[in-house]
Amino acid sequence: MKLHLYDNWTRQLRLFEPLEPGRVGIYSCGPTVYDYQHIGNLRTYIFVDGLKRALRLNGYEVFHVMNITDVGHLTSDADEGEDKMEKGSRRTGKSAREIADLYTDVFRSDLKQLNITDPDVWCKATDHIPEQIAFIADIEKKGFTYKTADGIYFDTSKLNDYGHLARLDIEGLESGHRIDIGEKRRPTDFALWKFSRPDEHRQMEWDSPWGIGFPGWHIECSAMAQKYLGDYFDIHCGGEDHIPVHHTNEIAQTQARSGTRLANFWLHGFFLLQSGEKMAKSKGEFLRLQLLCDKGYDPLDYRYLCLTGHYRSQLSFNFDALLAAQTALNRLRSQVNSLGEPGAADPTYVDRFMAELNDDLNFPRALALAWDVLKSDLSAGAKKATLLKFDQGFGFGLESYHIEDEVIPEHIMRLAEARWQAKLARNFAESDRLRKQVQEGGYLIEDLADRYRVKRK
Ligand code: AMP
Ligand code: ZN
Repeated sequence: MKLHLYDNWTRQLRLFEPLEPGRVGIYSCGPTVYDYQHIGNLRTYIFVDGLKRALRLNGYEVFHVMNITDVGHLTSDADEGEDKMEKGSRRTGKSAREIADLYTDVFRSDLKQLNITDPDVWCKATDHIPEQIAFIADIEKKGFTYKTADGIYFDTSKLNDYGHLARLDIEGLESGHRIDIGEKRRPTDFALWKFSRPDEHRQMEWDSPWGIGFPGWHIECSAMAQKYLGDYFDIHCGGEDHIPVHHTNEIAQTQARSGTRLANFWLHGFFLLQSGEKMAKSKGEFLRLQLLCDKGYDPLDYRYLCLTGHYRSQLSFNFDALLAAQTALNRLRSQVNSLGEPGAADPTYVDRFMAELNDDLNFPRALALAWDVLKSDLSAGAKKATLLKFDQGFGFGLESYHIEDEVIPEHIMRLAEARWQAKLARNFAESDRLRKQVQEGGYLIEDLADRYRVKRK
């Protein structure tokens, strides 16, 4: 089966073929670096990584561009509220540049810990101000913009299919809107450039043909995607919240400038939910990857959990589910580890695996297939090679994982140490009791000449 992906522009599962043979260009919207990313945000990057791995397994070379939003994203996603970066700066007492660098570094380290492959190009909005100004100037010349007291706006009435991606009901939006849209002509019109307010004292502002200010959030992605990938490339991704506003507006700007919808396929990862609602930085316990590590989880336990759900379904997070994922991943690791040297991968299972991935990235079924391989009557060497091949899609790092590298939980290490001391003191009853406790916790103690080693059972 050839690769089929669900494209939100056509709302269809479509056969994927790259525009340029053999090579796939991807743009995915990156983090707004005013704070840490929560594990919900990270689910979206795990989805994009799964897509890249599936494309590579299909023999394509992938060229991936990801932006860092370090200016212009307002607290409302639309044109109201404050710049998240300026707000984050006040919250932390650090400069906007300092927090951008800090949260970008943490984000990149999170990706590494999750075995997410880096994009080929990282691009920051603040490094591309001239490109954004040139973009706006171009669409201004073509008659798509107007000026208000607070900025330059895109006139969405100039496009006859504005809102197609989200199937927006434009008439309904226009007749029903009660919110104050200021001087905007229509609720769907959006800011391309905002003027700095005289009382604002912004840290990040630039001169422009329209006055001192800063770019809107959407223009950065259109300008940078076009710079690195051209007017029309293969796949654009982001989270589902990007469909009605951010991606809709990226498309509108690009249609105005170059007459294309920017990307051939539009893919969106669905939300991670916390207590039934979209996980958000402003709500509930702020779950960072580091917090999961502090509670004794491996970041890849979270990756496993994400692969148990399809990217086009919302996934509920709770610690019971994470514990189940940890148990499953540890079982997978130890079973793969015990298979010895790899032989030749089984072509039938590899074909079935590719069919699951090619069916709109069905990682949950691909994972189930991995367990079938372990239960099958293939030889140990064939099982090992087949699972290592699967892991090029899963990204659990099974090949480089060695049971000896495993981090043993602290309470087990304490019991093992107490048992060693009891043994040295020749208190054999106590030593046996403690050894049994370690075994009940799922671990074995191996005595060497002058020390001991703890291993998973
Ligand atoms: P932000 O840093 O807010 O710009 O978001 C970064 C990425 O995370 C975007 O692609 C969002 O669509 C995505 N995102 C935000 N919240 C969630 C969530 N609860 N689950 C999955 N993805 C999310
Ligand atoms: Zn974007």
